[in-house]
Amino acid sequence: MSSDGYRICNLSLCDLAMRQNGHKLQPVLSRLACIPPSGSDKEVRSLLVDLQSLAEVDGFAAWREQEANELSDLVQRRLEYLQNPADCSQARKLTCNLNKGCGYGCQLHHVVYCLMVAYGTQRTLILKSKGWRYHKTGWEEVFFPLSNTCTDPNGDSHSHWPGKTDTQVVDLPIIDSLSPRPPYLPLAVPADLAPRLTRLHGDPIVWWVGQLLKYLLRPQEATSNMLRDAGEKLQFKKPIVGVHVRRTDKVGTEAAFHQLEEYMLAVDEYFDQLEMKSGPVDQRRIFLASDDPKVLAEAKTKYTNYEVIGDPIIAKSAAVHTRYSDVSLNGIIIDIHFLSLSDYLVCTFSSQVCRVAYELMQTMYPDAADRFRSLDDIYYYGGQSAHNRVAVLPHESQDARDMNLEVGDLVGVAGNHWDGFSKGKNLRTNRIGLYPSFKVVEKVEAVEFPTYPEVPL
Ligand code: GDP
Repeated sequence: MSSDGYRICNLSLCDLAMRQNGHKLQPVLSRLACIPPSGSDKEVRSLLVDLQSLAEVDGFAAWREQEANELSDLVQRRLEYLQNPADCSQARKLTCNLNKGCGYGCQLHHVVYCLMVAYGTQRTLILKSKGWRYHKTGWEEVFFPLSNTCTDPNGDSHSHWPGKTDTQVVDLPIIDSLSPRPPYLPLAVPADLAPRLTRLHGDPIVWWVGQLLKYLLRPQEATSNMLRDAGEKLQFKKPIVGVHVRRTDKVGTEAAFHQLEEYMLAVDEYFDQLEMKSGPVDQRRIFLASDDPKVLAEAKTKYTNYEVIGDPIIAKSAAVHTRYSDVSLNGIIIDIHFLSLSDYLVCTFSSQVCRVAYELMQTMYPDAADRFRSLDDIYYYGGQSAHNRVAVLPHESQDARDMNLEVGDLVGVAGNHWDGFSKGKNLRTNRIGLYPSFKVVEKVEAVEFPTYPEVPL
């Protein structure tokens, strides 16, 4: 191949290192998307391993850890402040109905969107969750209530979105029917955090969503106990790759069928790189989650060189006929939890289950932006506003399929071909085509949110 997508594999480590922005390594790796397709290209693997190791030897590991903790702590304190007004009878509120007609991952993303808008409008979020399809008596029995002081949805004045500044209670519709759209929607991140986040993290919007999930998913004691018991029963241990195989109703409607072998190729590659970096692994291990109970048995039969963990009971409870029940709620909470605790994720980002696990994974590392392999979509957030990238290297079109880039061009993202190329629209020339993924960087959408001066930095 003469294309730049493959030429990147010949770039020296030094060339790539020079592309680093401050202390951050990960985005370069994501943009390369230069995973050896056959898993046999030792040179490429070696380059990727070296790139991963750079972050460990650059002397900034302690800084990264501290910065990540401080940023997370700041956001959590701001949310706590927003959600616990001193006088609920005077507080400005935003109501959000949990029971969007979709699965658990989709409902979580719905509540995250509500919390984003609440944070952006400085309104306390009131979550209406009685009659929840997964737990009839409500969210608060599973996770902590969103507030200790303010859960009453009533007020002196009431309106549908957007209401007026002084309307006390505003009802927020689902993102799909939101009008007008406020600037706080994904992929926006708060401008006052953006410079720090951009320095720290490979994909700030995923970090931001992860922080909102962290606040929302504080487990009640019974939920904590259930997760602890499940961990012991599963004998969850590292190193481990989380594999999510989404089948049943998704296949043929919103996503294509992927054989287990495709997932396992990416798992093998993860362990090959790990062994090249740190020496032999005692036991290769996967945590397998699926809505199709047959996949676990298939993995155990076919991959005897792996320890395959995953609860057949958990998997069975996810089957379509029991999907919306307390049993299935426990199953999906457990699966998302252990996927997010894994060292690496292999899944299809078309599934909200895996995207939630990936978002939560960001709360456990300073930067886990590169700890995944999606067999289909790039990361996205349902209902998101424009997703753009900025060209940092020029590109001259090699054939009819690809397009020219000038440094500074904005490119509207249409997808990743996972072979070194992405598809997009050059917003300067209006040309749609392919471009080498490493010649662009994410355009971080920094939007002015309230800065919560009442909460100390
Ligand atoms: P999506 O349809 O995959 O984008 O995600 P949703 O969360 O919106 O809907 C899928 C639903 O299928 C989940 O909420 C679960 O009820 C079920 N499901 C999908 N994958 C799994 C899995 O790995 N484990 C369990 N327990 N349930 C799953």
